[in-house]
This record gives sequence, C-alpha cells and structure tokens, in this order.
Amino acid sequence: MVGLSRINDSLTVGVLALQGAFSRHEDVLQQIGVSTRQVRTPQDLDAVTALVMPGGESTTMSQLLESSELFEPLAKRLNAGMPVFGTCAGMILLAKRIVDGRDDQLPLGAIDIEVQRNAYGRQVDSFEADIKVDTLEAPFHAVFIRAPRIVSLGSGVKALAYCDDDVVLAQQDNILVASFHPELSNDTRLHELFLKEV
Ligand code: GLN
Repeated sequence: MVGLSRINDSLTVGVLALQGAFSRHEDVLQQIGVSTRQVRTPQDLDAVTALVMPGGESTTMSQLLESSELFEPLAKRLNAGMPVFGTCAGMILLAKRIVDGRDDQLPLGAIDIEVQRNAYGRQVDSFEADIKVDTLEAPFHAVFIRAPRIVSLGSGVKALAYCDDDVVLAQQDNILVASFHPELSNDTRLHELFLKEV
C-alpha cells in the first residue's frame, strides 16, 4: 500500500476507455499528478497498477469487455487484488448481482453488493446531492445520472457514504464503488481516497 504522498512516476492508473464517461476521470487523475493510460486491450491492462471503471452504459460495456477480450484478464487482476474504482456503470459491472440487467450481462462479482440498474428513474430523474463521506470533512457534491441503487451489501462491505437511506459509496478490500459520477464535481477528493489504496 502506497499513500498518495508517496505516489511516484512508476504508478500508472488505467481508465477503462471502451465506452462512456472516461475522459473526465483522466482529467481528475492528471490534476492530482498521476499518469494515466486508457485501457482498451489486455496489453493496456497489463501496463497499469490500478483501474477506474467509468459511468456509461453497463450493458454495452459488458459486451465490449467480452469482444475486446478484457473480461477474463480483468477478472483475474481483480482477484489478484488490483485496486479498482467503479463509478455508476462501472459499479454495476463490479457487483456480485445485477437487478434489471440484461440477460447476457455478466457481473464481475468483485464486490459483494447487489445493484439495481436505473433504480432512481430515467435520465430526467438524474439528480445532485451533497453527501457526507466517512473520512472527508466537508460534504461531497455528488451527481447521479440514471444511477444504480445498491440494494444489498454483504457483511464484508464498508458503507462510506449515504444519500438518504441508500449507500452510495462502498468499499470491500481493493474495490471502491460509487453509484454517482465523482469525476463531474471539480473535486479530487474521492480519486485521492481511491489512490490511498494503490
Ligand atoms: N444506467 C446505466 C447502466 O445501466 C448507468 C448510468 C451511468 O453510468 N451514468 O449502465
């Protein structure tokens, strides 16, 4: 485990770039001085120490993970403890169980949560909320876009933030997930929190 203060040049954080909202994640990571690499192939994945899985459309991303032959190597790296931050659709892909997923949508099962897709309604029902995060002093302004809801958590999963009664930020070992889009808030604190685990 290397704290943020000791991040060095050899650390490259991958951003899964098959589809969706990956570019703002790269901006935030670069803003805090981390080298990034877009991950589209197994070779890209081999070159990174940690990975951000962005929001977007999880059913499409699922298919693209298969067609780009990333699914198996990613599952292996997750198993081996690679730190991963999954946001929104990224969280859906990492979950153990998906409610209202597509039949052929295969969850990676890296974190013991059950998530329901589009549980807060459709695009027009996207919303923003200030949430209190466990280890952060000031609230984090969270942007929810067709957000998935965490409907159950296993006992090994830590709830790090709530919005009303729902857990919206959670962690289990090497996996951090958010049901919102932390890259859209001009606030680097959650990416920094993630990098503390890298
Ligand atoms: N509803 C999307 C899905 O099911 C996730 C939305 C998002 O990532 N903003 O994949």
